[in-house]
Amino acid sequence: MRETKTGIDSSMSRRAFLASAAAGTAGIAAAGILAGCSSGSGANGAKEDNDRDGRAEEGDAKKTDAVAAPDVFTDGIYLTKAVSMHGPINVKTVIADGKIAEVAVLNNRESYVIGEAAVKAMPQRIVESQFVDVDCVTGATLTSMAIRNAVREAIGNAGGDARDFEGYVAPELQKSDVSKECDVAIMGAGMAGLMAAWQLAEDGKNVIVFEKMPYVGGCLPITSTAWNAQETIIQKAWGPEQIFEGWNTMQAQLDQYLNGRIEPDSPYYNPDMPFIKPMFEAVRDATDKMINIGVGFCPISDWPAPQLAPGAFSIGGKFCLDIITNYLTYQLGVNIITEAPVTKLVMDGDAVRGLVAEGADGTTYNVSSKAVLLASGGYAYNKDLMKQYQPDDLKFTIMAPPWATGEGMLMGQDVGAALVAMDQGVTSHYSGAVSNAEISYIHYVCPGVVVNGNGSRFVSESLEYKQALRQFKEQDSTDFYWVFDEISRQGMVPSGNSYRLDYTFLLETGDATEGENYRDLAEKLGLPELVASLDAVNACVANGTEDEFGNVKLRTMLVDGPMYAIKVTPTPYIAQGGLMIDPACHVQREDGSPIKGLYAAGDVTGSVENRDGAMYRVGLTQAIGYGLIAGRTMSAEV
Ligand SMILES: Cc1cc2nc3c(=O)[nH]c(=O)nc-3n(C[C@H](O)[C@H](O)[C@H](O)COP(=O)(O)OP(=O)(O)OC[C@H]3O[C@@H](n4cnc5c(N)ncnc54)[C@H](O)[C@@H]3O)c2cc1C
Repeated sequence: MRETKTGIDSSMSRRAFLASAAAGTAGIAAAGILAGCSSGSGANGAKEDNDRDGRAEEGDAKKTDAVAAPDVFTDGIYLTKAVSMHGPINVKTVIADGKIAEVAVLNNRESYVIGEAAVKAMPQRIVESQFVDVDCVTGATLTSMAIRNAVREAIGNAGGDARDFEGYVAPELQKSDVSKECDVAIMGAGMAGLMAAWQLAEDGKNVIVFEKMPYVGGCLPITSTAWNAQETIIQKAWGPEQIFEGWNTMQAQLDQYLNGRIEPDSPYYNPDMPFIKPMFEAVRDATDKMINIGVGFCPISDWPAPQLAPGAFSIGGKFCLDIITNYLTYQLGVNIITEAPVTKLVMDGDAVRGLVAEGADGTTYNVSSKAVLLASGGYAYNKDLMKQYQPDDLKFTIMAPPWATGEGMLMGQDVGAALVAMDQGVTSHYSGAVSNAEISYIHYVCPGVVVNGNGSRFVSESLEYKQALRQFKEQDSTDFYWVFDEISRQGMVPSGNSYRLDYTFLLETGDATEGENYRDLAEKLGLPELVASLDAVNACVANGTEDEFGNVKLRTMLVDGPMYAIKVTPTPYIAQGGLMIDPACHVQREDGSPIKGLYAAGDVTGSVENRDGAMYRVGLTQAIGYGLIAGRTMSAEV
């Protein structure tokens, strides 16, 4: 007896099961699978190969590695499951006449925009090509691979052999050259690039944005999608009595934000906060711009200072992005070209006067412009750069977005730009160590303690990630556990936490272990010190004393009820260093002189917070604020 991934308990062999289903005898639709009739043609046999060869002759994808077809290939609808970026996805595959007739992703927790791109494109690619190993959607590799795996399994469940549907070769590209002129060419359509384009276009400048990925928005879809905007139209309309304490004025928010975040020993410390102050002002203006074109916002109260989130927190980012992109494209005439990575800056003497971008369709864009904005994000995904600047962080799995390869930074460097704060390390969040699923809010939604492979606490759970990462690096083991009790577990469901996050999938992926009580959990995981660690936490609470890390806000762990541990790993995702700019976004040489025609904003410059000697936290606030500042500066200068 074996359990299939569809959750069907079958005491029959798969072939026997499929045969009975084919005869229409199994009333199994309710159980999640509906098998139709056998194709009767040995559907993966010669007929299939001919079909595919036919397509190959048409210059399309062609099969290169056929294997023998199975003897039975049963048509029908197959439901399969695969683990993806944010937990399991359920996929429906329809096999008809021995072909993959339909693929649909049923339910999933993938990120909007990025994961969604794969959810939309992969089924179509697979069905159109009849190959399961079609190219993944760039940037959504895990989601794409999960869909491919689910279809592979469906083919297997139908009695076929997934290898018979492999060997995809992408069609050859037709090469062409296009010349374009504009006032400003922008590299990257993340929030920094989009905000700059918005300001420039509004000021009547002709702008082209080149984006490497098939979608715009950069990191926005993978963030909490909230930023620190104060004194916007919204807060003014609410009036001071309706908004959170400490949120009445920009200064109040700034104070709250900077509280405990200044690093006076930092070589970059500047009490005037020349980078942070303009960021807060610009992000207010940028948020007002969004409000004025119909983006709705809600307040987020707690972290790190009150923030505004478009729409209903996370998912609201999608609507925000759609509204902005449509406005830029249709109202302001901004030309956004996706799947067209910038590969080179064009110089005229010592000034930057354009760029070259390579379209995925084979088009080379030769762009002549008065200025170029580098808004291409960070470099943490680039292993060579990480080895060079943050080798220690490679101890852990880097979870930076795949576009964060540092090309803008390197291009700037090539034309003389200085790098700054490269010694400031990276920021990390938690991921499930088994599934690799990103769970950066686990400490908010399931309060608990983090222990090492011995079960000992070694770091304050309330520490900033950047500092916490140092302590993780110092541990011998690479096994870490987030331990929490039954009360905290209730925070795993969307209705149980204010972030509306659903972390219940961790109980299915093997990331989480449940114990009847803490002793049982310690035994199951082989964590000899866990019991003592939890006893110590509870003793601190009972005595009203600080723990060893100076925490006073601990809460009792219910050690008599069920206890849970998620195997976690810190996953560094964003680097703190980058191109040196002044607070008006001019890219600078080592001596502080600006490079003519070259501007930069957002993650490509690293964190501007540490440029003032404060701790990194608000990447989105920075990208939005500094994108707008860059737009204003360029508008005035080109
Ligand atoms: C996992 C994760 C979680 C985060 N969570 C938060 C959070 O909760 N709150 C917060 O404030 N910040 C968060 N951040 C940080 C924040 O998202 C970023 O700081 C911010 O979005 C950066 O915006 P950007 O426009 O500078 O860069 P990106 O958003 O990285 O955009 C850069 C764009 O440039 C494109 N590009 C790259 N190379 C090229 C090229 N050669 N040619 C053309 N285009 C190119 C990329 O494809 C991308 O679309 C998070 C970041 C990550 C990675």
